Amino acid sequence: MKKAVLTSLFLMLVVSVEAQKLSETERSIISSGGKKDMMRVLQITDPADAKILKGASIDIGLKEELLPLLLDRMLATVNDPANTGVGIAAPQIGINRNVILVQRFDKPGEPFEAYINPKIKWRSALLRKGTEGCLSIADIRGDVLRHYTVELAYYDRNGQHHEEIIEGFTAVIFQHETDHLMGILFTDRLEQQKAIEYSLINGEVNLYLENRLKRQ
Ligand SMILES: [Zn+2]
Repeated sequence: MKKAVLTSLFLMLVVSVEAQKLSETERSIISSGGKKDMMRVLQITDPADAKILKGASIDIGLKEELLPLLLDRMLATVNDPANTGVGIAAPQIGINRNVILVQRFDKPGEPFEAYINPKIKWRSALLRKGTEGCLSIADIRGDVLRHYTVELAYYDRNGQHHEEIIEGFTAVIFQHETDHLMGILFTDRLEQQKAIEYSLINGEVNLYLENRLKRQ
C-alpha cells in the first residue's frame, strides 16, 4: 500500500515537471506557414490580442516537434523589414509559452538567439534608464529603468541548459522579453516606476567601459 502511494506521488511529480503539450490552437498557429513566413504580431489595442499579451505563459517541452518551426517563424517576424525589433516573445505571436528571441548586441555579429523556458535568477540593484518600444504597442516609446545586470537560466534550441550573466542594453532586452512571458508590458513598468523614487548616481560613481563595448 505504502509503495503504491509513493509510486503515484512520484508519477504526479514527473507529470508536473513535464511541460504541457502544445494545444491544437497553438499547433495550428505555428504550422500556418513555413519557416520563412512571418506571423501576425498581436496588438495591445485589440481586446482579443490584449488578453493573450496580458496572460501568463507556461513552459514548452524541449522536444516539442513544432518548436524549431516556432523559433524560425519568430525570427522571420522580428526581422520584418516593415517593423523590425531587437527581441520578440511568443505571446506576441499568440502563443502563451516561455520562448523568446533576443538580439545579442554583446556578441560579435549581433546575432538573434533563441531562449527556451528562460528564467531570470538574479538582478543587480544598479539600474539603467533607456528608451523602449514594443512591436505590440504601436507609436509609444518610453524611458524605462531596468536592472543593469541579470543572471539568466535557459535552454538553447538544442536542449542544452545554460546559466549566463548579461549586462547593459542586451540585459534590457532580456528583461523586456521575459516580462512579456508574465503578461507585463513596458508601459506597465513605466506606471510602476512612477510610484518609486530613484536617484541618479552618475555624479557619485565614475563608471567606465572600454570603447569596444560602448554599444552596451
Ligand atoms: Zn515588447
